Amino acid sequence: MIGVFGGTFDPVHCGHLRSALDVKQALGLRELRLIPCYQPPHREAPVANPGQRLTMLRAAVGDESDLLVDNREMQREGISYMVDTLASLREEVGDEPLCLILGSDAFLQLDSWHDWRRIPELAHIVVTHRPGWELAIEQASPAIQALWRERHVSDLAELGQSPAGKIFLQPITPLEISATRIREMVAAGENPRFFLPDAVWNLIRMNGLYGFNATALDNESATQSATQQDE
Ligand code: ATP
Repeated sequence: MIGVFGGTFDPVHCGHLRSALDVKQALGLRELRLIPCYQPPHREAPVANPGQRLTMLRAAVGDESDLLVDNREMQREGISYMVDTLASLREEVGDEPLCLILGSDAFLQLDSWHDWRRIPELAHIVVTHRPGWELAIEQASPAIQALWRERHVSDLAELGQSPAGKIFLQPITPLEISATRIREMVAAGENPRFFLPDAVWNLIRMNGLYGFNATALDNESATQSATQQDE
């Protein structure tokens, strides 16, 4: 089984990375592919450009062999529709099960995605619980409620028995981290360290992303060296 974890990754953070690893281990996936979108269909344009988001994602993964970065949406350019991505993966992997991993926030909005009814024909859907987004199926849209009723399974083994079509709920380590919050912190001159890998934080600083202000860093370094001298 192959896991597919798509996102804007603007920037990638520990909420993405830890949940990807949690799911890979819990489901015993052969491979987990992190797929950054080029242009998200139903949200504002990302702040960092595609190349910068891809570079941050690669730096975040580093030499972690449990995670792979798949840049097919970047190469395709244009609006990144998940259904196209899954169709291209399906062509490559034959009948091997594909598991599309979606946080509960993304799953509850699935019926707004382009050609969304084809998605469960191409992959299983593994829903993870994202803090702050209770998975209240009874409050979901009628289409999502029906999808859940028809396809939800509680036995993990069922995912291995068909290439696509089931929905499985996978608990993960709850980490209340969002890219929006990180961007806000950087813009406000606050320190977002440990919400995201250091390699990503260094790229944000080096490239002045998200309104990062080097002057604030200078002040921070000056305070740090003053403190070190006092010690
Ligand atoms: P933004 O704040 O810019 O909307 P984001 O942090 O939500 O970004 P995305 O790249 O939009 O990140 O999310 C991609 C996928 O990662 C979605 O399926 C989303 O549910 C999941 N995800 C994001 N943050 C977390 C988290 N802290 N825990 C679990 N899943 C997460």
